[in-house]
Amino acid sequence: MTAAVSPQCPVCKARFRGQRQCSRCGADLSRLMLVVVSAYQLRCQAGQALREARYRTAYEFASKAQNLHHTARGRKMMLVARVLDMVSVRR
Ligand SMILES: [Zn+2]
Repeated sequence: MTAAVSPQCPVCKARFRGQRQCSRCGADLSRLMLVVVSAYQLRCQAGQALREARYRTAYEFASKAQNLHHTARGRKMMLVARVLDMVSVRR
């Protein structure tokens, strides 16, 4: 199992606090912010797919989100979607 990794400033390794500029070294973190936001949006799409019982689609969205930004909650969502996809009855 892979541990969740909090995003960090690529320059000084300070914890990413959702700001465009690193509070410690002043580096531009706009691209890091875009990655985190993209992962969040993919998780929202995964949640919507879960609510609509589109489990395989939910798994794909959640998996893509994890590849961008790994979180413990995202991992749970991905695993739940995977299990539901495996046990769901196809219509
Ligand atoms: Zn920094």
